Amino acid sequence: MSQGFDMIVIGAGIAGATVAAGLGATHKVALVEAEEQAGYHTTGRSAAIWVRNYGPADVRVLTGLSREFFLNPPADIGTDRLAVGRAIVYLAPPAQTGALDGLISQGLGIEEISLAQVKAMVPALIEGYAVRAGIETDGFDMDVAALHQFYLRRARAAGGQLMLRNRAGRIARKNSAWEVETSTGAILCAPIVVNAAGAWADEVAQIAGLAPIGLVPCRRTAAIIDPAPYQVEHWPMVQSAAHDWYIRTEARTRLMVTPCDETPMYPHDVQPDELDVATGIDRMQKALNIPVRRVERAWAGLRTFSPDRSLAFGWDNAAPGFFWCAGQGGYGIQTAPAAGALVAAMVKGEDPGPATGIIAAIDPMRFRGRV
Ligand SMILES: Cc1cc2nc3c(=O)[nH]c(=O)nc-3n(C[C@H](O)[C@H](O)[C@H](O)COP(=O)(O)OP(=O)(O)OC[C@H]3O[C@@H](n4cnc5c(N)ncnc54)[C@H](O)[C@@H]3O)c2cc1C
Repeated sequence: MSQGFDMIVIGAGIAGATVAAGLGATHKVALVEAEEQAGYHTTGRSAAIWVRNYGPADVRVLTGLSREFFLNPPADIGTDRLAVGRAIVYLAPPAQTGALDGLISQGLGIEEISLAQVKAMVPALIEGYAVRAGIETDGFDMDVAALHQFYLRRARAAGGQLMLRNRAGRIARKNSAWEVETSTGAILCAPIVVNAAGAWADEVAQIAGLAPIGLVPCRRTAAIIDPAPYQVEHWPMVQSAAHDWYIRTEARTRLMVTPCDETPMYPHDVQPDELDVATGIDRMQKALNIPVRRVERAWAGLRTFSPDRSLAFGWDNAAPGFFWCAGQGGYGIQTAPAAGALVAAMVKGEDPGPATGIIAAIDPMRFRGRV
């Protein structure tokens, strides 16, 4: 016996959760997730930072449109600290002054500051590492777990069914609808399938008999260290202008360090590589005088990019009712509120308002035939 829905969303990370929440009021939604926990993969492994001047133009539009949600969330968001302000400081060694100039000229609100000002904020700065610096002041830390849980709660409150431990293994068109069979043997049926499978999105399309669009999951590594003797709660996020390492405060007293690695991978439960951890610490220690006695923990996650690094949201033109919500790269959390609203409007055929201008740029069919 198959269960009938208006829509089956595959993947319950932040992308699938926002779509299910955004469409729950008008559609009977099944939200199908392979793992025991909805945030097990990339959503639970992010750096949790909102940075206005990050990513391609379409991403920046959604990042900007999401800002208001983070600053003034609904009363039932489940935390009183969804956004906690944190500036971003860009350090330019001699070879990276061009990168800093690019950030300042192309970014919104990035200003040059003196190295003395950086030193006042980050006393660990090593003299001689940077020759110039810039600052972006309107960034903030995001409470990703609260955000994700809020959307899952909203989806369920609207009648949506969250099906954990159900990997979609067969996806086929049958009698003008999609039939999805999961790893528990459940058979679901709906006129619309939303592919929000993150690193697996190309794989999910292929299971449905559709061509991939060339998504590339890339590993990024993060390590947590004790920055003693420094008190880092109010430090800005600090990164090189060329984005080859950054640090940000974790849980008020620790630092997260990354070498900004982007190693192409197949989709899987990715683990940190010791060499990447060591590289991140080494690059940071050229800039900051922080002794690292031990790495407290490390993790890695897959940031999945489309061939032009922009988003891939839209209908597949080779099969009716198959909607792509993929390619969120390193920006899937900070864009989530506006992305969810945009996808809901696109699926319903409604006016997406201020995001209308990016729809052509994020059409996944721009890659069709290129892969
Ligand atoms: C180290 C790191 C730092 C980051 N920092 C930031 C940041 O500071 N700010 C920011 O905005 N973003 C950041 N990101 C990126 C952000 O985390 C991602 O863009 C976002 O989480 C992607 O969400 P998703 O729902 O598309 O993917 P996922 O969270 O991976 O969800 C996809 C889900 O689909 C499920 N799935 C796959 N195949 C199937 C199937 N066949 N059947 C059922 N379920 C399936 C998977 O199990 C998975 O749970 C970072 C990422 C990493 C790794």
